[in-house]
Amino acid sequence: MSKAAEKKRIVEPSLGEEPPPPPAADGWDGTYSGLRLSRPVLRDHILVGPGKPCPVCGAETHNMEIAAALVDGVWLGPEAGHVQDLIAVGVVAGTPESAQRTARQAEVDYIRGTNGTPDHPEGWPSLRERTLMDMERSQLGRDVAGGPAAVIAMENDLRAGDAAELRRLREGLGARDDRLLEVLERLAPRAEVQDA
Ligand SMILES: [Zn+2]
Repeated sequence: MSKAAEKKRIVEPSLGEEPPPPPAADGWDGTYSGLRLSRPVLRDHILVGPGKPCPVCGAETHNMEIAAALVDGVWLGPEAGHVQDLIAVGVVAGTPESAQRTARQAEVDYIRGTNGTPDHPEGWPSLRERTLMDMERSQLGRDVAGGPAAVIAMENDLRAGDAAELRRLREGLGARDDRLLEVLERLAPRAEVQDA
């Protein structure tokens, strides 16, 4: 047995404690922004949009929260890119992009006669831009109606279904097509598939 190394001191490390998160690289201070929306958006498996209170805090003055803050004209934070995308596609109320989208939509409606023409006064309601209520009544709305937990459960079921399909395919192939079996193995390792 070798001689014990010389001991200078002893510490008891606190292994149970999570290390504090590193400060955000861009200087974001943790401020979230409450956005008013002009059009519906799917956010964390929840349909949010104009007229609907914030699903996080219940406030009626904004429709969603985002982990980004506008500081001196620059968006900071982990969702800085996402908020800029939302603005760019014209869904954030009070932005020029939203007003432009509304104007474009009005032009499209005029060309299509959505709201009625002398020849077809009843118009074509099915061509109207979809509202939050339309989206809630759609297949997507029904899929997310049960809340995030229901959506995740549904996605897991779909994944289980995919695995069962792969297993059937693999069993059907037997050892005949080695290259295809290799691809299947990469897509869904055999053990994982058999557990499903
Ligand atoms: Zn809120």
